[in-house]
Amino acid sequence: MERLSTDYYVYPGATDRALRRYRAFAQSPGRRPLYPQDAECSCRGCSFDDVRHARDVLDEVLRQLPARAREELRRRVARLDAAYLQRTLPDPFADRRQWRSDLWWRRRLADGREGP
Ligand SMILES: [Zn+2]
Repeated sequence: MERLSTDYYVYPGATDRALRRYRAFAQSPGRRPLYPQDAECSCRGCSFDDVRHARDVLDEVLRQLPARAREELRRRVARLDAAYLQRTLPDPFADRRQWRSDLWWRRRLADGREGP
């Protein structure tokens, strides 16, 4: 699927990288709130500096996967989604402030710097 994808951000290894990135963020040690940060560069490598990009990639991959593989990945992502929701805070001004605020994982408070 990754090899066949025409999406610039979906390439061989991208799903694994996105999953690791998303997991590392959502399951960071501690209990304090976490704030996603913007990536300084929009290339396919640096974009992962923004954890929300990792979730974008997973979203795209989930759309393109065949049913059985999709279901397996969907379960893993759902667990991380729950953790992500717990560790981030809602942004009441997401419509004004966040890019692609139609995506729920982009309706969370962000900061210049990642971490608590
Ligand atoms: Zn770059």
